[in-house]
Amino acid sequence: MRNNPEQLRAYLQSQQEQHLYRKPRLNESAQQPLMQIDGRQVLAFCSNDYLGLANHPGIVGALQCSAEKYGVGSGAAHLVNGHHIEHQRLEEALAEFTGRQRALLFSTGYMANLGVINALTEKGDVIFQDRLNHASLIDGGRLSDATMWRYRHNDIADLSRRMAKSEAENKLVVTDGVFSMDGDCAPLTELATLTQQHQGWLMVDDAHGFGVLGKHGAGLVEQEGLNSDQVPVLMATLGKAIGTAGAFVAGNDDLIEYLIQSARTYIFTTAMPPAVAAATHYSLKVIQEETWRREQLQSLIQRFKQGAAQLGLPIMPSDTPIQPLLVGGSDQAMRYSLQLLEQGILVTAIRPPTVPDGEARLRITITAGHSEVQIDQLLNALESLQISKPIE
Ligand SMILES: *Cc1c(COP(=O)(O)O)cnc(C)c1O
Repeated sequence: MRNNPEQLRAYLQSQQEQHLYRKPRLNESAQQPLMQIDGRQVLAFCSNDYLGLANHPGIVGALQCSAEKYGVGSGAAHLVNGHHIEHQRLEEALAEFTGRQRALLFSTGYMANLGVINALTEKGDVIFQDRLNHASLIDGGRLSDATMWRYRHNDIADLSRRMAKSEAENKLVVTDGVFSMDGDCAPLTELATLTQQHQGWLMVDDAHGFGVLGKHGAGLVEQEGLNSDQVPVLMATLGKAIGTAGAFVAGNDDLIEYLIQSARTYIFTTAMPPAVAAATHYSLKVIQEETWRREQLQSLIQRFKQGAAQLGLPIMPSDTPIQPLLVGGSDQAMRYSLQLLEQGILVTAIRPPTVPDGEARLRITITAGHSEVQIDQLLNALESLQISKPIE
């Protein structure tokens, strides 16, 4: 327990010594490639606004228009009197977009994951999670009275062994769709088949695939063509490619009705502002109509990957907007990040505990808002750092 000032100070000092100290940067501009951060102009490659929609005029307009009509606050939880027609319309649109019977809004992705995992599991159940799953999924499992196993990253054989050994009646398999710090995708079709073989349920968190992947942008689950028998619990967030805020869970009618009765992070929290729901609804239309955004994004990703491979940079196997460079040590990652900043480029160093020890990295993200010239600027800056592969 750290319950006195000396202990807090000692902890802070040790974090600093290990290059693990964290500090928010101050942004004074809109979310876009050219930003005013900590008092200086930078070209940013760290946003999750993959389609460049956070500052889209139509989406901003939808928010303004709705706020004009309905005000700002939702005033209460959904089950009191906070459930607004704007929420209802958005839930219906999300259900249609994901090809599910129903969808349910949550105020954040973190809360959706805590709420859903805990509503679906109890003592005696087993939760199987990919080791690299997002912290909110892991925390959901930790809060639950169920047993949690963490299988090796994307390792179907390891999961299969663990599932075969388990005698639990209720098995929940949980995975990120696109892994947030690696950019690779889960083998969803295989996971779905294996989970069905063991009469389990598969939950997919598609925070980084939703909007970006799939023919219409409905995410990795659309790309893999998986229905709600194969992926009964589909969760995604609205603060990344969608450009707004919040999250949702989509599935069949019974699942959603069950969550309304029992997901505590749905029940005991204020509904998102109706205007945010209206803006999100508008964003869903933009995502489906402005297909050039996904095409532009893919072409920039390929340009970056080719350039980075030519420079011998330690890229990871990813075809998504998340293009991390594996550096190794936290001190090294911090140094590279600072050196990039000196050249006016903002890329964040991701360190433990967000990633495993010895796997610190520069997490580069590319958005449809970037230009080819900006990708080349990034590559030139990276070339000047002479980044080498981490020593094994
Ligand atoms: C960002 C993220 C979340 C959390 O969503 P918020 O809406 O930001 O709370 C959950 N899961 C994954 C995989 C994420 O990347």
